[in-house]
Amino acid sequence: MTVKIHITTLGCPKNTVDSGHLARRFAAEGFIPVEESGEADILLVNTCGFVRDAKEESVDEILRLAEIKKKQEGGGTKSLLVFGCLAKRYGAELVQEIPEIDGLWGVSEEERIVEYCKGLKTRKGAEAGAKKGGKTAAYAMVSAAEPGLMTSYAYLKVAEGCDKKCTFCVIPSIRGRFRSVPREEVLREAEDLIRSGVRELILVAQDITSYGKETAGSTLAALLREMVALPGDFFIRLLYLYPTEITDELLEVIAAEDKIQKYIDIPLQHSEDRILRLMGRRGTRKEYLRLLRNIRRRIPSIILRTTFIVGFPSETEEDFHGLVDFIEEVRFDRLGVFKFSREEGTPSAMLKGQVPERVKERRYDEIMGRQALISLERNREFVGKRLPAIIDEVDADVVIARFYSHAPEIDGAVIVEKDGMPEAGSLSGPLQAGDIVMVEVVDAYDYDVKGKIVGPVAY
Ligand code: SF4
Repeated sequence: MTVKIHITTLGCPKNTVDSGHLARRFAAEGFIPVEESGEADILLVNTCGFVRDAKEESVDEILRLAEIKKKQEGGGTKSLLVFGCLAKRYGAELVQEIPEIDGLWGVSEEERIVEYCKGLKTRKGAEAGAKKGGKTAAYAMVSAAEPGLMTSYAYLKVAEGCDKKCTFCVIPSIRGRFRSVPREEVLREAEDLIRSGVRELILVAQDITSYGKETAGSTLAALLREMVALPGDFFIRLLYLYPTEITDELLEVIAAEDKIQKYIDIPLQHSEDRILRLMGRRGTRKEYLRLLRNIRRRIPSIILRTTFIVGFPSETEEDFHGLVDFIEEVRFDRLGVFKFSREEGTPSAMLKGQVPERVKERRYDEIMGRQALISLERNREFVGKRLPAIIDEVDADVVIARFYSHAPEIDGAVIVEKDGMPEAGSLSGPLQAGDIVMVEVVDAYDYDVKGKIVGPVAY
């Protein structure tokens, strides 16, 4: 009996990693992944419970799949299974409100989910045998539907949980204490991904700078040294670094190793000391400025990404303008903004001075507007330059690629139009995702750049 499985992943790259692991476990157990939810026997949703928008998105998706399941009742064989952060936080409510849900798990419960599905598979097999049906679809997309595993990039989770106590964040209560993935496991997974053709390994965790600290084992810098020694043409990108834990040793490795993209993502959340203290964040405005200057001095080509929260309780106009000045002074290459979301059970939800939504909106718009100009200016600095680009997607009219300056899914991209393609014969074959080509930038926009391929990259 072949059982087809469809996994929907919502939320952050950490969830993408979990779904990727799960998908590989399912493949090893003989389940068939499918891209279309309508074709699947088992519908799995990996949910996000981080902020209100993300929760709504997860609930909408569960409801959409519940509809698909209902329509198919009669045959009645689809199972709807929900797991991840939202399921952990609001499990009882979800099951009560959406009776179509057949199973529900929190985080780090892959083992149980697989076991449950194996049981379903056996039962479905027995039912199918009884009905003399059980025909399988020949069009199942076995290779392309595996989340988290594409030929151009893959997320690699190096730790789970978080020991920091940011007062706005539900993650520690959902994901638990910080636990590093053993270095042998990270290296084994990295090797497997590189062997399967992945060109960029994106290291993620709630806080990758704490890697190895709870066991006094390997550090992130030591892990990176081992990773770059693995054979193959690949890059490493680092996301989610905690500002006060970025060491000189780590910066040295990033600066020295060609396989590490010169790109650092440091969510700072705010710049003003009083707000940082209320947020439970370590470090001060002065320390952050010193850190960012130090990074730019040591690695001049570095792309700096950060995220901020606007409308944190008690944030005054003065605090907000302090943040705007900070952004203007640093001129981050990439910047994301979140509007403060009052999360049940977090200390900051109880703070006095909650900021009205319309004020949050205005502050959000102001920063995004200013950042669009800074980002455009930064992108213009690339015009006329030739850089290696990893190809993510090739379709009829356009090729989507990325330089070291673009993290997939969160930053812009390099758009290569058909008329920018090189003469036939100058590349070794038709382009495909995962190829690395040399691209010259011909134009810049707020978030993307336009380029033309000028040839293959020589190693
Ligand atoms: S570092 Fe802070 S914001 Fe990030 S996961 Fe940990 S508690 Fe949450």
